[in-house]
Amino acid sequence: MIDLCELSAQYIKTIAPYQPGKPMSELQRELGLSTIIKLASNENPLGPSPLALAAIQTALKDLALYPDGNGFELKSALAQLNAVELNNIVLGNGSNDVLELVARAFLSHDTEAIYSQYAFAVYPLVTQATGAKGIVVPAKEYGHDLAAMLSAITAKTRVIFVANPNNPTGHFIHGEQIKAFLKAVPSQILVVLDEAYTEYLDNDLTYDAISWLREFDNLIITRSFSKAYGLAGLRVGCGFAHSDVIALMNRVRQPFNVNQLALVAAEAALHDQEFLHKTKELNTAGLRQLESACTELGLRYLPSRGNFLAIEVGHGALEIYQQLLNRGVIVRPVANYQLPTFLRVSVGLASENQFFIDQLSTIIKP
Ligand SMILES: *Cc1c(COP(=O)(O)O)cnc(C)c1O
Repeated sequence: MIDLCELSAQYIKTIAPYQPGKPMSELQRELGLSTIIKLASNENPLGPSPLALAAIQTALKDLALYPDGNGFELKSALAQLNAVELNNIVLGNGSNDVLELVARAFLSHDTEAIYSQYAFAVYPLVTQATGAKGIVVPAKEYGHDLAAMLSAITAKTRVIFVANPNNPTGHFIHGEQIKAFLKAVPSQILVVLDEAYTEYLDNDLTYDAISWLREFDNLIITRSFSKAYGLAGLRVGCGFAHSDVIALMNRVRQPFNVNQLALVAAEAALHDQEFLHKTKELNTAGLRQLESACTELGLRYLPSRGNFLAIEVGHGALEIYQQLLNRGVIVRPVANYQLPTFLRVSVGLASENQFFIDQLSTIIKP
């Protein structure tokens, strides 16, 4: 490492880089394959909401102008839909940005953040970047062990991250359990409830965490437009919290962190109920399709409430990942999540799921 990099803080140098899903264009360059399907990043297989696309078309002519740094229109729409005020909302360049704003506003040297084993990889990243210590609480049956997370609280704890459903396990915690957890967490500790996949929940599992803000000043709920709304490429997400929490996050936020096309697209997508409905139906059917294939192949999977399935393929997982790549299917190895025997597969179109299943079967049962 060159000298000037050596001088970077130890807590920066030891951050493990985020491993994104392989882009289709990269695999295309490497293998020259004509058909490639990507089931690696939990993207929406239906593409973006058509209403969002139309809004982008209209907004293109204004690209010479800076975006509205306060995101007034999008926040107004979010406020109305979720019965909160504008000052209860922060917008982010993807919800990852909101997670980072949390870390920058509330973590520093000599503080701690708590998250679960197998939890979303961005929590350790944003925590470590502030010099704070990440406390990893062992999972229980691949899910968050909320009781153990409570026991991990110390005088240094400032933030607790909970993903519901979690990525990459798909594990879901019922609303009542989360509410009981919130009641037990001391009020000076911020609880981040990451709901990037909440739109995929069956109706009988949905809960309204945003309404809990009236009761808990130390709660922030993050949402994403990257998954069910199909806008991963634009980067837009949001957070809902007490106005004081939001105000602090706004101090460390870049003034124009969300671009204009993202703002208008997200607002349009919010109102595209038909697209959301289709997305959810396709996902439910796709999950069933992948699950029954696993059962037929004798493979275990982790029950998932997201738009992906973690499938246990055994110690050859990396080799199987590679062979799938050779056949034009990109999935996600999750060894970096301490799940070396699993592959995470995003739910695609029925034909894409089938292509994956066919390729996987020939690899494991030649
Ligand atoms: C995909 C994902 C996000 C959202 O990412 P964006 O930055 O909004 O694209 C957040 N949390 C979890 C758990 C995720 O899987």
